[in-house]
Amino acid sequence: MADLGNPRKTIEILQKYQFRFAKKFGQNFLIDPHVLDKIIRAAQVTKDDFVLEIGPGIGTMTQYLAEHAREVVAVEIDSNLIPILEETLSGYSNVTVLNEDILKVDLARLAEERNGGKPIKVVANLPYYITTPIIMGLFEKKVPLDSITVMVQKEVAERMQVGPGTKDYGALSLAVQYYAEPYIVANVPPNCFMPRPGVGSSVIRLTRHEKPPVQAADEKLMFSLIRASFNQRRKTLVNGLGNAPEVPFSKEEVEKAVAGMGLPAAVRGETLTLAQFAELSDRLSGHIL
Ligand code: SAM
Repeated sequence: MADLGNPRKTIEILQKYQFRFAKKFGQNFLIDPHVLDKIIRAAQVTKDDFVLEIGPGIGTMTQYLAEHAREVVAVEIDSNLIPILEETLSGYSNVTVLNEDILKVDLARLAEERNGGKPIKVVANLPYYITTPIIMGLFEKKVPLDSITVMVQKEVAERMQVGPGTKDYGALSLAVQYYAEPYIVANVPPNCFMPRPGVGSSVIRLTRHEKPPVQAADEKLMFSLIRASFNQRRKTLVNGLGNAPEVPFSKEEVEKAVAGMGLPAAVRGETLTLAQFAELSDRLSGHIL
């Protein structure tokens, strides 16, 4: 039975193994059963599901996942946690722990081998220092995904969910919303973790779109434009893109495309919707003349 999600049990196991938290691995373990329940419910894990957990820690959420899913693979970088996981997960035959760096695992291949290439669910209390590379890696490396339900820093959850014209809107908002529908499930205060993080946290569910909400003929170009315009936030879109080394178009070409879209010459990138970035990309690449 899942029994780790409380402070007493967590302290007991940490003391037994004389475990020392490694700050560099973003270790903040969940100690609140209500939050664990909320995550599992938001992820809608069923006995049909293959679940990938990133950073199982001492296995608190892994136990919950194992009880609800068909199969769980949990990837943990810290080898000091492996003996602990062997004990806490010994009662579950449907869990595999891989002692690896999640950023180096071929997840598309894992999904192919373990789940016949069918969409997987990702559920995790993420190590915050690598939130963006983990999430973007899942989307960009074409891992077959049903949904990603994860604990992240509160500000990062907000950035993923907001639309144009707000201060948090940026390349991450657009990238996430191109691939998925974001929904903030709950805000979680620092006292639900051990040790307490210095920031607020939120659980966010990203439900993978079956088809992207916009179509850009050259997806790579669209993302270069998005990144370049938010790298130079204080410049107008024309100046930002016209000067960006990664954007292979002159200022005049950008000016023409922006005018063709009926936008003011001084428009800023942060006001553009995903559909407008797709159109800009198609105009620049000659797919719209
Ligand atoms: N799931 C546990 C819980 O909720 O109590 C632990 C969550 S803790 C925020 C993040 C976990 O990710 C830690 O166990 C940490 O060691 C692990 N981790 C950090 N970097 C990692 C990486 N690159 N690959 C795999 N796991 C990593």
